[in-house]
Amino acid sequence: MRVKCPICAKEVEWSAQSPFRPFCSKKCQLTDLGEWASEERTIPATGKKPSEADQPVDIEEIEAMLSQQQDDFFKH
Ligand SMILES: [Zn+2]
Repeated sequence: MRVKCPICAKEVEWSAQSPFRPFCSKKCQLTDLGEWASEERTIPATGKKPSEADQPVDIEEIEAMLSQQQDDFFKH
């Protein structure tokens, strides 16, 4: 079975040999994560009160992890 990478539309084999599926590569996977993170940041904080009870995941921890991954990516 083959799927298309959501970032660059390259065909990817859906198997254990493609650890980044549905992305073709780590680069595309990180691109997608980066777009998601930037979209989250551009959403205005007005209108909806953030509730800690609704957020079992630590957002700051995820953002720290993402920025660390991006740092690694840009070093290569
Ligand atoms: Zn790709």
